[in-house]
Amino acid sequence: MIVKLDTQKALVLFSGGQDSTTCLAWALERFEAVETVGFDYGQRHAVELEARPRVLAALRAGFPQWTAKLGQDHVLPLGVLKAIGGSALTDDMKIEMGEHGLPTSFVPGRNVLFLTAAAALAYRRGIAVLVGGMCETDYSGYPDCRNETIKTLEAALDLAMEAPFRIETPLMWLDKAETWALAEKLGGQALVDLIVEETVTCYHGERATRHDWGYGCGVCPACELRAKGYANYVSQ
Ligand code: ZN
Repeated sequence: MIVKLDTQKALVLFSGGQDSTTCLAWALERFEAVETVGFDYGQRHAVELEARPRVLAALRAGFPQWTAKLGQDHVLPLGVLKAIGGSALTDDMKIEMGEHGLPTSFVPGRNVLFLTAAAALAYRRGIAVLVGGMCETDYSGYPDCRNETIKTLEAALDLAMEAPFRIETPLMWLDKAETWALAEKLGGQALVDLIVEETVTCYHGERATRHDWGYGCGVCPACELRAKGYANYVSQ
């Protein structure tokens, strides 16, 4: 017996960063009801989790067309990733090129765990659509950001729960400049400003220095990508 899920409801994997905030706006434009889920996995940049309620409040206050659609927010603990460790996102390690041609910020299995936990929550909430900011264009070689990984996981989750999940990844083929442009298309300059002011992308979670593209240390790979993307976006 296949479970019935509502295809007009979406659950957005929402970290409080630029990409997932853009995905949230994308979902709010398309679906009747949208919920959000974040994961506490012992990330060193826990300032990211603090940004989540700020971004949600700013979206509710600044975008009346979306307010009624934006439903419950969930935070799930996934401390297993911290317990396993070995990544610069969970341990005190330098972010640099590591083994197997992957940066030390790689967390093995992270997106698979995130999407599996999100699907289990969506099952309970009657939600058919999962939305994630995975992106193959700037993916730093993370194999769990590839479209093929996501599509295969979607099929596995359907089978595992006998539920017709659909995983949407609106940023999959966009570069960072195009992600800024998508935010502008969805919510105008007001959404671009909200993303600059409130979202956190920096691997060190730095919020002391304000650049034209937002807050961050300015030198970690995540800041470099965000800065470069913003520069390309404003020059277009
Ligand atoms: Zn940084």
